[in-house]
Amino acid sequence: MRSGRHFLQIPGPTNTPDRILRAMHRAVIDHRGPEFGAMGRDLLRDLKAVFQTENHVVIYPASGTGAWEAALVNVLSPGDEVLMYETGQFATLWKNMAAKLGFDPVFMQGDWRHGAQAGAIGAQLTADTGHQIKAVCVVHNDTATGITSDIAAVRKAMDDAQHPALLMVDTISSLGSIDFQTDAWGVDVVVAGSQKGLMLPPGLSFNAISDKAWAACEAGGDRRSYWDWRDMVGPNAQGFFPYTPATTLLYGLREALDMLAEEGLHNVFARHARHAEATRRAVEAWGLEILAAHPHERSNALTAVMMPDAQGADALRAEVLDSFDMSLGTGLNKVADKVFRIGHLGDFNDLMLMGTLCGVEMGLKRAGVSHTPGGVQAAMDFLSA
Ligand SMILES: *Cc1c(COP(=O)(O)O)cnc(C)c1O
Repeated sequence: MRSGRHFLQIPGPTNTPDRILRAMHRAVIDHRGPEFGAMGRDLLRDLKAVFQTENHVVIYPASGTGAWEAALVNVLSPGDEVLMYETGQFATLWKNMAAKLGFDPVFMQGDWRHGAQAGAIGAQLTADTGHQIKAVCVVHNDTATGITSDIAAVRKAMDDAQHPALLMVDTISSLGSIDFQTDAWGVDVVVAGSQKGLMLPPGLSFNAISDKAWAACEAGGDRRSYWDWRDMVGPNAQGFFPYTPATTLLYGLREALDMLAEEGLHNVFARHARHAEATRRAVEAWGLEILAAHPHERSNALTAVMMPDAQGADALRAEVLDSFDMSLGTGLNKVADKVFRIGHLGDFNDLMLMGTLCGVEMGLKRAGVSHTPGGVQAAMDFLSA
């Protein structure tokens, strides 16, 4: 038994604030009754603000991976080509899913240090004169690499190529942390999840659906049942769901939407940007390298830090967990044991960030990782300026 609070500084699930925990500590109600219907209608309406959309948003009692599958099977038909861009492990997993489901992913290779290149996507679409590509899928914030891609630029490249493919974007670790403008950026299908910027426990996921995506769903799509948007939209109009919703998590979602509205979305984004900048200054002062090569693609939700001299990231993470009761994110797949990830998203403030960075700096020292002390000081200087 440890005293004090565990620091959950993985890039999701994030720390669940007490307000949300208390909001969920309630009996489940009849999900076909009038009280539920009123709550459901309000939630489905208020969710739109966080997605910055007028489009319909559906809620699944599933992790984010479920909403990935929903996005694919509702609009794509068997064998359809789908253009996907390798920004890290999450883009890779979405591509693997598309292949497993029987679609035909065209995977544009990346080196895990750069975001989706709009120019390259545009060129690929221009070359597709027969319009075989039915969708372009991009991960807005690849949580494995800490890389944020410019979705507005991808939209513009698609428009310039005059290509009719749908734009589908994974915002699982950016929604509610990094500005994401569904309508202004012309995103046809948004995929989101509960346990990152929305500060909830895992278990809910979302699709925002444009008119064009809805038309594709009605005209085609793959075999689907549980994920079928068409079964959702009817009951949703009255605040209900076709099967039993995760009522407790919806109580939490109500509280999360209120918290984001009280702070103001733009203030939420600015807070994340500030904490990310303080973190990057700490990493630079330590003399360590950030995985994202370009400063403008560095994520405001997390920072992936490369280990020096082939030293192991997992030994460092184990030391930090053991000595200071803090969980840092592990390196995934191609960067396993080569990077550790600092989550700085969700319910977070300056002193929580400083505690996090202190834990990292003390861990670097205890684990004998080559570095220059002073990252914590650099972050303090930035935050107190
Ligand atoms: C966490 C995450 C996922 C996977 O979501 P699950 O809830 O684990 O299914 C997918 N994409 C991104 C960008 C993520 O951060």
